[in-house]
Amino acid sequence: MSAPAPPTPAPGAISEFFWSGARRGQLMIQRCQACGTYIHLPRPVCRACHSFDLLGEPVSGRGSLYSFTETHRPFHPFFVDRVPYLVAVVELEEQAGLRVLTNLVRVAEADVRIGMAVQVEFERLSDDLTIPVFAPAVAA
Ligand SMILES: [Zn+2]
Repeated sequence: MSAPAPPTPAPGAISEFFWSGARRGQLMIQRCQACGTYIHLPRPVCRACHSFDLLGEPVSGRGSLYSFTETHRPFHPFFVDRVPYLVAVVELEEQAGLRVLTNLVRVAEADVRIGMAVQVEFERLSDDLTIPVFAPAVAA
């Protein structure tokens, strides 16, 4: 029996850079070219200065854990073999309050600490879909 396909987002023009970046192994976040504010989720207009001049830019992929929860119930057949898994909110180092909803990997729930340093990794789920996930940062 083949595994069920993952639920796959259908990116519009406004978020395509995020998914194509992930396929290349690069975390891309929308940034206002007028005032420098990073914006996530992508929007048509900068909420700081109302500019329409917004582009996806690569970011470091480093951040800290803002919040998390452990999911035990699969909400889609794809997740049946994956539960339990950790859903996390990561605040990226580029800007206070710049937060990404993601998965936390390679750490047990009991070892997770709010504020812990994390770094992006990429998990390829299908030919078309690679998602950014975060793991505990490895000390340099
Ligand atoms: Zn702006």
